[in-house]
Amino acid sequence: MKHNFHTHTTRCKHAVGTDEQYVKAALDSGFDVLGFADHAPWAFATDYVSHCRMPADQWQDYKRSVLSLKEKYQGQISIRLGLECEYYPKYIDQLYRLRDDGCEYFLLGNHFLFTEESFPYTGTSCTDDDELRRYAEQAAEAVATGLYGCVAHPDLYMMYRTELSPACMEAADMICQAAREAEIPIEYNLLGLQGELSGHSRGYPNQDFWQYVRKWDNKVILGIDAHDPEQLRSQPVWDIALERLHAMGHRLVNQIR
Ligand SMILES: [Zn+2]
Ligand SMILES: [Zn+2]
Repeated sequence: MKHNFHTHTTRCKHAVGTDEQYVKAALDSGFDVLGFADHAPWAFATDYVSHCRMPADQWQDYKRSVLSLKEKYQGQISIRLGLECEYYPKYIDQLYRLRDDGCEYFLLGNHFLFTEESFPYTGTSCTDDDELRRYAEQAAEAVATGLYGCVAHPDLYMMYRTELSPACMEAADMICQAAREAEIPIEYNLLGLQGELSGHSRGYPNQDFWQYVRKWDNKVILGIDAHDPEQLRSQPVWDIALERLHAMGHRLVNQIR
């Protein structure tokens, strides 16, 4: 079964294509399941405005669009309504409300800690060991809430690091242990892999990380992290990911709850 639970839309301001173009690309590429998981519509208490997520007032439009595609393509492809969310303890009630309002799953995309209103992008800040530890602690805490169905790009912190240092291994252990206990998969990110294969590495997926965490025997899921419908059509990236994960002995799954 070919699946992808990590699909963005233009509402996040850094993706292209219509919602339906993602569905058509998925159908053309033989997907059985397509999950939309656009960047969460966090409503902030300050006048901070995010430039990398859907505004809070677009959730209803997003939901309507995904659900109408779900109906239109019923019997051809299973479409799921999800979101990729950080873990912001002070705003966590919003996720419960979104879930009650029909959001079927959340991917943990640990892009910022505490709240992005006052904390930097984790890909950048995790070059510092203390920040890295905080990243891992928050990821583990997020997973323990039981709200998230998957840890997206768990190795995001390798973005600006060149080697898997002892601090990086410790972070990997914390995240993978939490995912293991919660029985949720960690995601092998194909947007990152596509970058690597085209000479524009994002630092993840990091081969050393994936070798190192094999010992946790986590469930592993592929995630395209599509920001362009064309990314769903790239069979070589998909095949290389599978080949690498199988070579390392990872346990692949194709479902998230
Ligand atoms: Zn994005
Ligand atoms: Zn994403």
